[in-house]
This record gives sequence, C-alpha cells and structure tokens, in this order.
Amino acid sequence: MKYVGAHVSAAGGVQNAPLNAKAIGATAFALFTKNQRRWVAKPLEAATIAAFRENLAAVGIAPEHVLPHDSYLINLGHPEAEGLAKSRTAFLDEMRRCAELGLVTLNFHPGSHLRQISEEECLRRVADSINWALERSRGVTAVIENTAGQGSNVGHRFEHLAAIIARVDDKSRVGVCLDTCHSLAAGYDLRTRSGCQAVFAEFDRVVGFNYLRGMHLNDAKSELGSRVDRHANLGQGRLGLEVFRYLMNDPRFDDIPLILETIDETRWAEEISMLYGLVEGS
Ligand SMILES: [Zn+2]
Ligand SMILES: [Zn+2]
Repeated sequence: MKYVGAHVSAAGGVQNAPLNAKAIGATAFALFTKNQRRWVAKPLEAATIAAFRENLAAVGIAPEHVLPHDSYLINLGHPEAEGLAKSRTAFLDEMRRCAELGLVTLNFHPGSHLRQISEEECLRRVADSINWALERSRGVTAVIENTAGQGSNVGHRFEHLAAIIARVDDKSRVGVCLDTCHSLAAGYDLRTRSGCQAVFAEFDRVVGFNYLRGMHLNDAKSELGSRVDRHANLGQGRLGLEVFRYLMNDPRFDDIPLILETIDETRWAEEISMLYGLVEGS
C-alpha cells in the first residue's frame, strides 16, 4: 500500500496539519512543528498536542506516515563549536516536539561544511550530532535526507548517507529519506525506468532499503548533476513521470510516507490522485 501526501501548512497551529492533509486527499504528510526560519519556539501547549493527536486519529493517518521536517537553520555538521552546539540543541528540541505529538521520525538535511572543514569531518560531526540527540531523546528516528549538493551541503552521495549511518550507535533510530529532485541534481539519473533500476540498486548496495523511511516526490527544474536544488511540479521538470510510475509500482516504497514538496501547492490534490492513477491495475 502506498501512502502519498505533501508538506502541508501548520499555520495557526500544528493541529491544523492533519486537516490540511485530509483536504487534499493525502494519506501521509509532512509538516514543520515550529517556525522553520527561527531558532527558538514556545513549547507546544498541552491543548495543541491533544488537538493534533485527535485530528490525526480523526483523519485516519498513522503516525508512521507523518514525516516532520526540521528547521532550515540547523546544521548538524557545523564547522564551529558555537554553531554546532546551537544546532544540536535546536535539533533535540525538535525531536522532543515530535515525540510529544506522538510522531516517530524527524527528517533533516545532514549539514554543510561551509568550506571550513573537509566533507569527511563534516559527515563525522553529523553522525556525532545524531548520537548526541538520540542519547537525550526517546522514540523518534533521525531521518537523513539526501541533498542536491548545493553550496557546501553534504549528503548528495549515497556514500555520505552510509558514512553517517555507519557512525551512528543506535541503528534502529536512524533512517534516510530520498528526494527525487535532489537525486537528479546530485547526478543520479532517475529519468527512465532503467535509470531508476540502476540508481535504486546502487542505493540498496550502498545504504540499504532497510533504512528507507520516506521519499520526497518532486520534479526538478535543475539539470542532471547540476547540484542545484529547484523543485518543480510533477511532469513539469527535467525528471518526467517515469520515476513516479516506478515508485508507485515497486513494493520497496510501500508503507512509508511519499511526500510532495512541489512548488505550486494548488496542484497537490491533483498530483496525489495522478500518483495513485499510476498504480498499475488500479
Ligand atoms: Zn526534500
Ligand atoms: Zn529541495
């Protein structure tokens, strides 16, 4: 069974996100549990937590099919002590917010070396940050997203994801999320069925499907290997629809959240039903 949704708005409070997901026919969703452009947020109020849990149950979406995304400010591979400490504290706060909401994952971009440390050192810091946060929290899995490799971002090679996981002590609480746009921009050619077969075989060999906890479904304005992160609506970018047909018919993508982050949100309902329409025999 496939669970498809989008990164929906939590404006007015996180309790609105499940309702926004339901309104577009989603069976999964992503959200920010706080303002993603600020370092600190007020703790979640008991009434907000209760309303979120109630609305989630009411729309019939399982916590496993919600993939919260952390703040864009956080850099768990930060080269400087102060930036690293600030990022770790903010990340831990987000892990705890997810746990309070009854959620089981937190999706994040691994980090950036800012041209001050090597890629290897940055990846080590990311893994150490994950260990630091996992030791201080319970129940939430850290889900590393592959990146487009824009600027000094690490995480654009499957080997980067594998290197981070290798250094994480509790392997039961670390996972990955693959973004189709980021993959293309990073040089993984998902434009054809044979390309998908090769890329996902490589992913399985280097990282392993047992770590896959979610997918971001985005077409790409950016070119193959461009290392530029620009999402497009499905069928309107360089990827085309073949990759989405492939994902929707491969059981390795069953039972995980498949999340749209496409730019025109007025098309999400249509995109979700189009994706379900790609399922062969449906
Ligand atoms: Zn993404
Ligand atoms: Zn992106």
